[in-house]
Amino acid sequence: MAQPAHLEQTISAPLEFSGVGLHSGAPVTMRLLPAAAGSGIVFRRTDLDNFEIPAVGRNVAKVSYATSLMRQGVLISTTEHLLSALIGMGVDNVIVELDNLELPILDGSALPYVEAFRESGIRTQRRRRESIRVLSAIEVRDGDKFIGLYPGSGYRIQYTIDFPAPIGRQQTSIDLAAETYGTFIAAARTFGYKADEKKLRDMGLIRGASPENAIVLTPHGPENGPLRFSDEYVRHKVLDLIGDLALAGRRIEGHVVAERAGHAMHTALVARLMKDRSAWELAHVPAHAAPEESESELSAHASLRRPALMGA
Ligand SMILES: [Zn+2]
Repeated sequence: MAQPAHLEQTISAPLEFSGVGLHSGAPVTMRLLPAAAGSGIVFRRTDLDNFEIPAVGRNVAKVSYATSLMRQGVLISTTEHLLSALIGMGVDNVIVELDNLELPILDGSALPYVEAFRESGIRTQRRRRESIRVLSAIEVRDGDKFIGLYPGSGYRIQYTIDFPAPIGRQQTSIDLAAETYGTFIAAARTFGYKADEKKLRDMGLIRGASPENAIVLTPHGPENGPLRFSDEYVRHKVLDLIGDLALAGRRIEGHVVAERAGHAMHTALVARLMKDRSAWELAHVPAHAAPEESESELSAHASLRRPALMGA
């Protein structure tokens, strides 16, 4: 079954996830509901009279260890892994109902979302998809941290990290137009250093963290290995980046270069992008003929390939 990249998509059926929030430790049940074309990604707090917060840059709250949205004092926390999976799998429109303030951390990656989308299916809608086509460079620097967004076809990300042992320096490049989110990025888990645990807990963070939802690092290596990829850490940073840049409101067409960045740098880039209206345009994704795909390929493979790279 072909998934035309030029049309918007939603999920075929409601999906439910439950677990605990990584930072709050609070139990939460989250329901994803199909949504109308053109409606985007909207969070809804069912415990607060269905208060809605659209997943867009103007609602970004203060960001440090996770990305949070806030509107009129209502918070939705740790949005990045779900938003990453939605952008990565090409889901444009969905309502996300939560009965608490933080999304469930699940296994620390975006894989449970991707598997659920693959299982229940993604539905094409009758509306042309628009992307944010980058027209001129936007760069944000903070000491030795850097992130830049440049014009270019597809959605290419180059990420470099440099952490204390055992991670060290890792770099990866991915072209989401040609490679697949589901195969290369979704399964990469979040990580943390055992040495930082007490400090973070004292700050009221990582109350829901456990070896089941985060790679726990000592200077000698992961305590709860094996890793899913030898460079799982930098792949997870790419996962986070895709989720944070989703707050631009549309999938980006352009190239991202990130060095030692994190949620604060990612969302600072979104803020700059939203402010500098001359640096981008909304562009329809071209409607080239898509090759026939078998049912089993209804996955990241199908939804991520760009028409230009489909051999058309
Ligand atoms: Zn993350």
